[in-house]
Amino acid sequence: MAARRIGIVGAGPAGLMAAEAAAGQGAEVHVFDAMPSVGRKFLMAGKSGLNLTHAEPHEALRKRYGASIDRLGAALDAFDGAALRQWAEGLGVETFVGSSGRVFPKAMKGSPLLRAWLKRLGELGVVIYPRHRMVALDGHTVRLETPVGPVTEHFDTIVLALGGASWARLGSDAAWVPLLHQHGVKLAPFRPANCAFEVAWSPVFAERNAGAPVKAVTAQSTGEPIPGEFVVTRFGIEGSLVYAHSAALRDQLEATGKASLRLDLVPGRSLERLAADIARQKPKESFANRMRKAAGLDGVKFGLLRELVPEAASLAPEVLAEKIKALDIPLLRTRPMDEAISVAGGVRWDSVTDDYELKAMPGVFVAGEMLDWEAPTGGYLLTACYATGRAAGLAAARA
Ligand SMILES: Cc1cc2nc3c(=O)[nH]c(=O)nc-3n(C[C@H](O)[C@H](O)[C@H](O)COP(=O)(O)OP(=O)(O)OC[C@H]3O[C@@H](n4cnc5c(N)ncnc54)[C@H](O)[C@@H]3O)c2cc1C
Repeated sequence: MAARRIGIVGAGPAGLMAAEAAAGQGAEVHVFDAMPSVGRKFLMAGKSGLNLTHAEPHEALRKRYGASIDRLGAALDAFDGAALRQWAEGLGVETFVGSSGRVFPKAMKGSPLLRAWLKRLGELGVVIYPRHRMVALDGHTVRLETPVGPVTEHFDTIVLALGGASWARLGSDAAWVPLLHQHGVKLAPFRPANCAFEVAWSPVFAERNAGAPVKAVTAQSTGEPIPGEFVVTRFGIEGSLVYAHSAALRDQLEATGKASLRLDLVPGRSLERLAADIARQKPKESFANRMRKAAGLDGVKFGLLRELVPEAASLAPEVLAEKIKALDIPLLRTRPMDEAISVAGGVRWDSVTDDYELKAMPGVFVAGEMLDWEAPTGGYLLTACYATGRAAGLAAARA
């Protein structure tokens, strides 16, 4: 019997994993990508340290996907964080567990892994076609724009792994949305996830503090305070501690038009102790000196206090201590979606079967960020892209 012919559109981590899984089942696999080279977002992710997955126990990892775990769970159980590490090591890429349990390749970047992976895919007979943009999909026939003009290809089954709707310049431009919509595939609107927020900083504060990291604080939105750090930008705030709250803050902004991130600038000290430390300062000293000596606040932390509580210098010690331990940063809006690390929204769960096959387009499977799930940073994004890519590739090979 001739091998099944599978077309995969999108050569990010989800599409390449689908290719590996399908080729491993003996299928003839062809992978198309609109960009001149593959895995551009994956390589960009590696610029600041490629966080492949998380080393926490599997049950804890599953919780990071919220309600979507009902539909992601089987794929993640079959290919979890430990399996992902093993897979990377199988490609000759050693990994390590960094602080807070995040897993990185020892080289930190994605290029050695991608190189080894493409070599393996080549050995499996997978053929990759860069500069091939899918412009239409009818049944199992894909129409592609290529450097030599339009090409039409027919496959037994197809996997779409076209990415989300941020960082369009890396390929994930969501231009596929109308292509699927016209076939009756239901889509949830894209929204920024793991995103930055805008704040109405005064020009003086922004000028002085843009780029400054705010370290060793806790931040709270709707749930418990989370320790970590973030960065002040000219427009507002960004960084891991902000991303950790971004889904809750985005939802709040959408629902009420208002949201703020509450900081504790001195999380190691009780309110009473801080108030006493402030009260002990000599009134003759400048406010900046009193804050530095009593609360260890200087630089951007002192700047934040002055910016957000202009009357701080005249407050009684107990009131001032309260402000320092519950300093609200009022947020205007999310930064534009194209800047977000990831997105929520995409192909709705009620449009796909448990095998990630489109109900409206049998024989067409979807994987990765184009599905409607979201997760925080910490390696959870790539983990689910790999897991769904593998599940879709296996299903496409046996369909
Ligand atoms: C700056 C940054 C840092 C990140 N860091 C991390 C991290 O450390 N850890 C982590 O887990 N996640 C991280 N992420 C998120 C992670 O990179 C993405 O979630 C992941 O790449 C999504 O994989 P994907 O395969 O679903 O889609 P993508 O990687 O976006 O790939 C989709 C592919 O589809 C192609 N395509 C789209 N439309 C068409 C079309 N019509 N025809 C043909 N091809 C098409 C695109 O060119 C692209 O190559 C980061 C993201 C960013 C932006």
